[in-house]
Amino acid sequence: MNFELTADQKNIQNHLSELLKDVCSQEYVRKCDETETPPREAFNALAKNGWLGLIGPEEYGGAGGTATDLAIMLDVLGYHFEELGLWVFRNLTYGCVAVLKHGSKEQIEHMVPKVLRGELSFCFGLTEPDSGSDASALKTRAIHQGDHFLVNGRKVYTSGMDISDYCILVTRTNLLEKKQQGITNFLVDTKLPGIEVKKLATLGQRSIGTTEVLYSDVKVPANAILGELDQGWKGADTYLCYERLCLSAARTGAARAAFDFALEHAKTRVQFGKPIGKFQAVSHKLADMKAMLDIAQTMVYRYAWLVEQGKDTRQDAAILKLYTSESYKSIADMSLQILGGYGYCMEYPLQRFFRDSRLATIGGGTSEIQRNIIATSLGL
Ligand SMILES: Cc1cc2nc3c(=O)[nH]c(=O)nc-3n(C[C@H](O)[C@H](O)[C@H](O)COP(=O)(O)OP(=O)(O)OC[C@H]3O[C@@H](n4cnc5c(N)ncnc54)[C@H](O)[C@@H]3O)c2cc1C
Repeated sequence: MNFELTADQKNIQNHLSELLKDVCSQEYVRKCDETETPPREAFNALAKNGWLGLIGPEEYGGAGGTATDLAIMLDVLGYHFEELGLWVFRNLTYGCVAVLKHGSKEQIEHMVPKVLRGELSFCFGLTEPDSGSDASALKTRAIHQGDHFLVNGRKVYTSGMDISDYCILVTRTNLLEKKQQGITNFLVDTKLPGIEVKKLATLGQRSIGTTEVLYSDVKVPANAILGELDQGWKGADTYLCYERLCLSAARTGAARAAFDFALEHAKTRVQFGKPIGKFQAVSHKLADMKAMLDIAQTMVYRYAWLVEQGKDTRQDAAILKLYTSESYKSIADMSLQILGGYGYCMEYPLQRFFRDSRLATIGGGTSEIQRNIIATSLGL
């Protein structure tokens, strides 16, 4: 494993950072958050400059980048605006990696080139009101009727559904003995009749946010199945490693942004005749944060390398998700404390990191569930 980024990878960092300084200023981010508006201009700029094609195969218009390239991109995006990073993550994980792994030739040729050009957006509908951590207990039914499946059910927290063209919808197609069986994933056109989307009011992640989606007698074409009928649970496992990688990279980038803000404040805010960073109570917080950031960053690159080698395990993914989420939450909290009253004011960005980071230990599998996975892998 090589911990030194290549010249090309340093170029990804530098060129993307330069672009984002232009198209994703702190003022722009604040406005998107306050007005609950998706960062469409910044997203379009990424598309125009070819960034959305970074990890796509060359035959579909991509640059053929690696999982490490993807992690670097998500880290930089997360540093500038986490929700922009999460938009890109959803498109590349669900619209590119998942479709390439499980899609038919028609689905791949129709969707992947457009995803890589930023012309299609994707989201993921798994969680339901009665199945969160116990995700495979999902009840949304898809019943085969000739050339289509009739879908009925309710999903909660489908992030970005209102700005997506397609949703990977996880449904129950067969009532079998084991709840992980009889699950089928569909690439559902989000504009189909019978789909009702309602944005949810949330503590953070307000720019794109998340939604509740009602499916009432939605006719989903039979050729919209992603992968094999009734085998959807196993299928999703093959691309969720990219979800773990992207979320962890974006959140480590966001944590670094909170840290940088707090560090600068600690150097310039004077109390009792000296910068507050000279007080050990403050400097030790920053030292702890720096250590957490370095560990998180190293873990992200290590996991990306494991994914590239096909050696990643459920235990690796859980450790990564657990550590990067908990460290982001701690760093956002400590950074806000270092800002004092300014940290609590909406005018400064620390409150946004504090609010956004709270999702990290909940979404995509809670920290408790990650600990359960690690404990099980230890034979407990
Ligand atoms: C803003 C936001 C965005 C999201 N985006 C998406 C999305 O795009 N697509 C999607 O499908 N889902 C999404 N989710 C759903 C998310 O993955 C779930 O919220 C998460 O898995 C937890 O499920 P739950 O909220 O139902 O909590 P519950 O499962 O009800 O858990 C409640 C508490 O009990 C604990 N708990 C539950 N079971 C156990 C156990 N066995 N051992 C120990 N503790 C346990 C949990 O850790 C948690 O602390 C999103 C959620 C939010 C809030």
